[in-house]
Amino acid sequence: MPDQATPEEIRLKGIGVSPGIAIAPLQLTGSRFEEPETRLIAADAVAREKERLQASLTATREQIRNLQREIDDSAGSDHASIFDAHLLVLDDATVIDEVMRTIEGRQVNAESAYYGIINRYLESLRKIADPYLRERAIDIEDVARRVLKNLRWPGGEAGRGIKAIDFEKPSVIAAHDLTPSDTVALNRDRVLAFATEAGSPTSHTAIMARSLAIPAVVAIRDLLSHVHPGVQTLIDGYHGLLILNPSAETLEEYEALRQREGQLLKKLEKLRSAETATADGRRITLSANIEFIEELPLVKEQGAEGVGLYRTEFFYLNETELRSEDRQAENYTRAAEELQPHGVIIRTLDIGGDKLWPEHFEEPEPNPFLGWRGIRVSLARPEIFKAQLRAILRASARGKVGLMYPFLSCVEEVRRANELLDEAKLELDHAGVAFDPDIEVGAMIEIPSAALLADAFATEVDFFSIGTNDLIQYTTAVDRINERVADLYQPTHPAVIRLICDIVAAAHRHQIWAGICGEIAGDVLLTPLLIGAQVDELSVGAAQILRVRRAVSQLDSGDCGEFLQEALKRREASDILEMCREVAAEKYPELID
Ligand code: PEP
Ligand code: MG
Repeated sequence: MPDQATPEEIRLKGIGVSPGIAIAPLQLTGSRFEEPETRLIAADAVAREKERLQASLTATREQIRNLQREIDDSAGSDHASIFDAHLLVLDDATVIDEVMRTIEGRQVNAESAYYGIINRYLESLRKIADPYLRERAIDIEDVARRVLKNLRWPGGEAGRGIKAIDFEKPSVIAAHDLTPSDTVALNRDRVLAFATEAGSPTSHTAIMARSLAIPAVVAIRDLLSHVHPGVQTLIDGYHGLLILNPSAETLEEYEALRQREGQLLKKLEKLRSAETATADGRRITLSANIEFIEELPLVKEQGAEGVGLYRTEFFYLNETELRSEDRQAENYTRAAEELQPHGVIIRTLDIGGDKLWPEHFEEPEPNPFLGWRGIRVSLARPEIFKAQLRAILRASARGKVGLMYPFLSCVEEVRRANELLDEAKLELDHAGVAFDPDIEVGAMIEIPSAALLADAFATEVDFFSIGTNDLIQYTTAVDRINERVADLYQPTHPAVIRLICDIVAAAHRHQIWAGICGEIAGDVLLTPLLIGAQVDELSVGAAQILRVRRAVSQLDSGDCGEFLQEALKRREASDILEMCREVAAEKYPELID
């Protein structure tokens, strides 16, 4: 039995989406009932603060009634009546009076007064033994969270912009979920790792965690009911584990793991300036995926042959000022110059899906991944699109730059995008601005309709970059960010492997190159399949560069071709994955667990 002084170690399992280990006190963030900032207000601002509270109560009432109506329609009035209790909590005159008196008496902002009083009620309810009454605390917390949210973002959450997630001391964080905007706002010096209840390996939040080199674990069931702030926590992004109160033995075990990792990295370091080729000499371009310019030093340090995918959404998720053509041109030029003699492939805006552009997505779409996303947004906003194209073209005068269009589902889209590119070139020409007239233009093939029409797409562009994150999602109808169906998200699904082979073959028939920039490019278990499919380029997270280079160097391209043919005879994803595991275990055991 653990004694009082040594709290019990608890291990929670999820999916490791960004490698690394961090140990620090845990903090909660996201949709929890968080203490707002207290602001002292002037005497003449008291009336205004009370009005803010009233407005927020009205907005909350409306939201609860809407919810109640929706649920009444879909699940019946029994369920909808839960919200009657919420309305009673919201309109409790004693609470409202007390909050109003606190705003006036202590001259503080409405958020702080409201939080203080509700929290006091919650504390006393949580101490009551009766489970029914304790349950009521959840209702009160739910309502109070809404009120605070409406106080903070009176126009609705959509217009809120980015809120930095930061703590005073180094911490690991737990949340129900983090959006890509939350992730970009993490203070990287103090947030050492994070864990969430929701999420999946190819959500943009997970991709960003890898880019930012923040260890992360997602899809931990009931995470928030196990954790509380301040508890010493270890997050293991390699194995998808969160360990509360790690014991002395666990800490020792992790120290040993850290050392093993360190030794492997030392060995791999020797490959930094090596070329990427199979054992029989077939060259592969091994480039990196980035989301931020700040990643360039790491990309170069790891010996990447340029950047194969620069995701540019973060100009648009950030402050408006970053989006100007000049700011973008400056940023792309820096990338092009710093990456010499290699190049950078800049992907045009792929907003939508799980990366929402606040001012244009006020009305939530029922199916954002099937909605207004990627090239669809760019073609509907040609001025914004052309500003980005001009910025990319301007950078092309200063280094090796390519561009590619995301989310293409039909040939008309790539043709229209190319027309706008021609217009952008003409505009620069008239203005006497230099650019590379032969800039390489690529199509991301990530929707099955584009994969099936790869021959037609190949006549419009100079290369293909296969976005397998989306190709898997759309081929198998599995939402890439929904943890409930995460086990159905199978990169080795035979249908996906066939599409990849067909896309590469179509590219080669038309004498253009084809690469992969989805997350599977960095998964060394799958390297034999991808070499077998004859891809020309793999674009991976910076942390995967050396591992993939090593894996490629251990494989023979002829053997991989035969291996692929064998794999294509299998009908189940798990069979193909098992075959891959066997090859990897034989050829580069040090790279896999
Ligand atoms: C992909 O879909 O594989 C891809 C690389 O793009 P993103 O993950 O940004 O959708
Ligand atoms: Mg994609």
